[in-house]
Amino acid sequence: MKVLVGLAFLITVLSSCSPGPITFASNKTIAHRGAWKTADLPQNSIASLKRAIELKAAGSEFDVRMTKDGELVINHDPLYAEDTIELTTYAELSKHTLKNGEKLPTLKDYLKAGSRNNNQTCLVVEVKPSLVDKNQGVWAATKTVALIKEMKLQARVVYISFDYEILKEIRHLDAFAVTQYLTGDKTPAELKVDGVSGADYHVSVYRKNPEWITQLKDNGMILNAWTVNTAEDMDWLLSQGFDFITTDQPELLFERLKQLMTKRPVK
Ligand code: MG
Repeated sequence: MKVLVGLAFLITVLSSCSPGPITFASNKTIAHRGAWKTADLPQNSIASLKRAIELKAAGSEFDVRMTKDGELVINHDPLYAEDTIELTTYAELSKHTLKNGEKLPTLKDYLKAGSRNNNQTCLVVEVKPSLVDKNQGVWAATKTVALIKEMKLQARVVYISFDYEILKEIRHLDAFAVTQYLTGDKTPAELKVDGVSGADYHVSVYRKNPEWITQLKDNGMILNAWTVNTAEDMDWLLSQGFDFITTDQPELLFERLKQLMTKRPVK
């Protein structure tokens, strides 16, 4: 049993991250915008994604936005190098590199990098709502799903969004898509009715509504929380049996998991 406990980090199991044949790491750890903090990499860079894969995190999250000319790019903020992404062409935006010299990643480049040398890290695709027109966000989601299907990566991704309509559209376009809602204003029963696979709410939402944790579990739904950067919050979510924890500090979460494993009584 001790050997089993010691090997816990290395064991991979088929997780609820995907219904496909890929085996995802069981360490519950979703690197938020990639694993950037320790190595001081740019958030949402291909380097931060590769680092998350090297760490064998269960997932690596990133943000998708659409440029004026319809290119899907990876960036958290609506602005990039002081230009509004939605109102600027990719050619103009890509004149500015990330701080590590990388080109502003397109979704295609990002997905290619995320499927190379990766047998365990799920790609957690956040489709950002549009600032300009709600339909633009839904259009970005449509193009995102189409590209993922074209690249045959459906089994490697889950979709998250603050925009409920975006998630509903994704489910409409791909009946097997795994989706998690971010805003925190829907009950588990509402998510279930709308075919959303799970909740990815701010940790404070679960603290305020602890009954939602039981309700999500009772409905067989995915439990994920963002953005969890303290040992105290990590320990609490682990004690509540969360499936995933989204964090800027994957290494800290690995430590907390190890701690939990060593504390668990050996039968
Ligand atoms: Mg995000």
